[in-house]
Amino acid sequence: MFLHVLHNLGVEQVLNRLFRGHVLRMLLFLFHGASMNNELDLCTLIQEFGSEEKCRTYLEKLRWPKGVQCPSCGSDKISRIAARHQFDCDACRYQFSATAGTIFHDTHLPLWKWFLATYLLCESRKGMSANQLSRMLKTTYKTAWYLSHRIRAAMLETTPKKLGGTVEIDETYVGGKPRKWRDRPEKQVVIGIRQRNGDLRLIHAEDAKSATVREIIKANIGSHVEVIVTDESAIYPWALNKMQKNLHRTINHSKHYAHGDVHTNTVESAFSLLKRGIVGTWHKVSAKHLPAYLDEMCFRFNNRKNPYLFRDTMLKLISSQNLEYKQLTAKIQDAA
Ligand SMILES: [Zn+2]
Repeated sequence: MFLHVLHNLGVEQVLNRLFRGHVLRMLLFLFHGASMNNELDLCTLIQEFGSEEKCRTYLEKLRWPKGVQCPSCGSDKISRIAARHQFDCDACRYQFSATAGTIFHDTHLPLWKWFLATYLLCESRKGMSANQLSRMLKTTYKTAWYLSHRIRAAMLETTPKKLGGTVEIDETYVGGKPRKWRDRPEKQVVIGIRQRNGDLRLIHAEDAKSATVREIIKANIGSHVEVIVTDESAIYPWALNKMQKNLHRTINHSKHYAHGDVHTNTVESAFSLLKRGIVGTWHKVSAKHLPAYLDEMCFRFNNRKNPYLFRDTMLKLISSQNLEYKQLTAKIQDAA
């Protein structure tokens, strides 16, 4: 609804006013909800990064927290050329800007669009399509696609560490309705692994056979695991290795849901969140898109307590190599 209004009013004009107008600022703030406990809400974003100058200063501090250094010779004897937003190295006379050699430089997009896009992608719990982003930022679809691709990659870049401590494993089935009464529904298997008080993994599995589950467990549970809780399904005794079998506790769901500390309630609550997401926002998830959806859901879940997600993403963006713009945009041209 709000996006629709934004679209009708002319996004550029509205955003320009947003960056200045207090009333709209507050409206947007209220609309967006002060629900997240984040370091950054949209209101703060607008106040702190509402101009190219402010964005540039922020990037400069992220890039050189101990003061500007010459990317060519490493010297910290630098003169500012304020009018051109550049630095001049006193040692080697190299001239550079805060965004030189970074992803922000070559796209020629205003920095505030990068900042706003990053913020929107970090905050939107349901994800945001390139189409939606292109309408909000008034960029071409191609640019919005590139932005979301690049920002999402920066958000996801870290290699997930293996889970340990007390972990719960469970399997669930999503999607697929039988077309005829005797058809078997094309349900997809999702294996959930959740470390208590820790991270969640949701993995789309080919099937729920022990051999498949064994590989998933091997890839996701580390040797620092202390207890493994599952239900009494016959999959798990075969899927666990010798060391893991000694740590295995089961809960009989036909009798009770928890036996002291032995329960799979935390992974099950993640499943119910997943199913609500699929019913409520995705309506129908194809098998093809399921892994991406699962990744995104885990990412949001595992970052639920990271108040610095925006800053962390910005930091990765400014330190990542800017190699991919032409490659990426060539790829979408092929795909279009
Ligand atoms: Zn230098």
